[in-house]
Amino acid sequence: MEINKNYLYSGSEAVLRWLYPRRCPICGNVVKDKKALACGGCIRQLPYIDDRYCFRCGKQLEDGAEEYCPDCRSRGHLFAAGRSVWIHGGPIGKAVYQFKYGGKREYGLFFAHEMARRWFPFLQANRIQAVIPVPLHKARYRERGYNQAGILAGHVGKLTGLPVYEKCLVRVKNTLPQKMLGGGERQRNLENAFQMADALPASRILLIDDIYTTGATLDWCSAVLLRAGAESVYFCTVTNGIG
Ligand SMILES: [Zn+2]
Ligand SMILES: [Zn+2]
Repeated sequence: MEINKNYLYSGSEAVLRWLYPRRCPICGNVVKDKKALACGGCIRQLPYIDDRYCFRCGKQLEDGAEEYCPDCRSRGHLFAAGRSVWIHGGPIGKAVYQFKYGGKREYGLFFAHEMARRWFPFLQANRIQAVIPVPLHKARYRERGYNQAGILAGHVGKLTGLPVYEKCLVRVKNTLPQKMLGGGERQRNLENAFQMADALPASRILLIDDIYTTGATLDWCSAVLLRAGAESVYFCTVTNGIG
């Protein structure tokens, strides 16, 4: 099985691209190759996570002999496992920032395509049945106009054929960005932040988010889904590292 490449060239995409030539999420220039989502030269320079990654959180490892990163060796997680495409930072970090805060929602297709392309075998091996984006609080949604994780999940769903449930999990607490807080505060910040708003659609779930940092957000979302009866929760993010 392969991902559905036709989605990239579907009718509405083609009209949109004719009106607004696609810009490369990395350098901002118009992408010359009509079938590409970013410039070839830019893509080649990006820090793709190679085959030495933590089996739990997907973080790039220096030493391919290790199975888990120091963080996952020292503590457990509630999600079963997750994978990311790139090491966070530099030009890809900037592109994700633009996608999240700069209104560049169109960058989501490039990110989601790389997620689906790289990790489709991982999704199949784990028999994923449904995709759920990490939700944004409604006040933030109003500010930003979109949930970046929802955009990614929508594209991943179309590319993999998996159903997406955007309204099943909600964020009921308008939390502070985790990076602004210390260790203990981070835990309290996310406590009771998420809730089910709808019945659990399936038992093997894939959560989608933009960046994996400590995994706290994904653990809290997993806790809620597991309590609602999920068998196991996996995740996929664009980047992995310090956000
Ligand atoms: Zn470029
Ligand atoms: Zn890890």
